Amino acid sequence: MPVEPFVKCALRRTTSRRQVLSWRCPLKFHRLIVAHALALLIPAASGAVLPRPSLSARDALSEVAREAAAAVRELQASERVVAARPTVRHVEQPLHTADLSDNELLRLWNDDPVALGSIVATVGSSERGRLINGVRLPEGAAWTVVHPEQAYGSEETIGFLASALTAVAEQFPGTPPMRVNDLSRPGGGHLRPHQTHQTGRDVDTSFYFEGGVRGGRLDMERNWAFIKALVTGTDLQVVLVDQSIVRQLHRHALAAGEDAAWLERIFNRGDKSLVRHASGHRDHFHLRFYNRRAQELGLRLAPLIAAAPAQATHRLGRGETLAEVAHRRNVDEWALRRLNRFAAGEPPAGYLLMLPLSTGGSSARPVEAQLVVPPRCLPSSRDGA
Ligand SMILES: [Zn+2]
Repeated sequence: MPVEPFVKCALRRTTSRRQVLSWRCPLKFHRLIVAHALALLIPAASGAVLPRPSLSARDALSEVAREAAAAVRELQASERVVAARPTVRHVEQPLHTADLSDNELLRLWNDDPVALGSIVATVGSSERGRLINGVRLPEGAAWTVVHPEQAYGSEETIGFLASALTAVAEQFPGTPPMRVNDLSRPGGGHLRPHQTHQTGRDVDTSFYFEGGVRGGRLDMERNWAFIKALVTGTDLQVVLVDQSIVRQLHRHALAAGEDAAWLERIFNRGDKSLVRHASGHRDHFHLRFYNRRAQELGLRLAPLIAAAPAQATHRLGRGETLAEVAHRRNVDEWALRRLNRFAAGEPPAGYLLMLPLSTGGSSARPVEAQLVVPPRCLPSSRDGA
């Protein structure tokens, strides 16, 4: 561990700020540890405050880091440290995020990560991961949000879901709102009882029922319209549902005169089918979307994300304002507002706020992978159009 000698060495020495900044920093140090070391050293060098005697894991690093924030910024600006920090991974392939050069991406990550929008970060195995700058599915005319605090997705996921549900409601006036169950938690990560739902790309929805009677007969016309809107209008990766419902959907679509070869590709290609069987899915659709932008940002930023702590949340107390939260949690109020989509006004008491990411820290190793989104599966009459 390079951190220990660095800190110990820092503590032993009486030194000037300039000296600290000129040190060659080890590759994998924890930014907050450095903040801590600086907080100990800089006041000591200026003669104003005595250094604390030792570094304990229980010390409130965030407090120390706040005191030393200015010093950390200066430290980061020092060329040696920038060179020692992990940087953006360069990807040669045509990018969905080509509007962001590697340098611009690095700058925004460091200075204004909220401006990057949603980022899907897969770690360890492809099922595990985090969601950065997620968006809560808002209430809508075409759907009902069952668990608001587990209804966070990437901007792309939220957009795809909303557009498909809206398409069904517009096609069939009088459609009762679809119940949308879990997406992800605000910062992603494990969400009981699911194995997936960690990165803001997974959504569980109910079905459309005849007459809107929950648990009654399935309204196949609307359910098929929903699947069709997902397949043709979104970057759908897969719909998981019980085999009996896969068959009903396939039969219904055939009878409705849809292109048979296209339906084969959707329903009948084994584990390559877009809509396929999964056990335990008799009572809901599990949707998973590709996120061109959020996933690619996650890949390019993987080395930096791996070094960043999870996104923290804050539950708003009675009468507490966003300005107070920003002050108390040492985050920028405007970044807090943008992230939580409260450009003006105040959320209600009890609201779960996401706090802007602090971009230092350490966590699990990122997955090494390239994002490949296959072309959409469209009926043959549209192919080559
Ligand atoms: Zn699910």
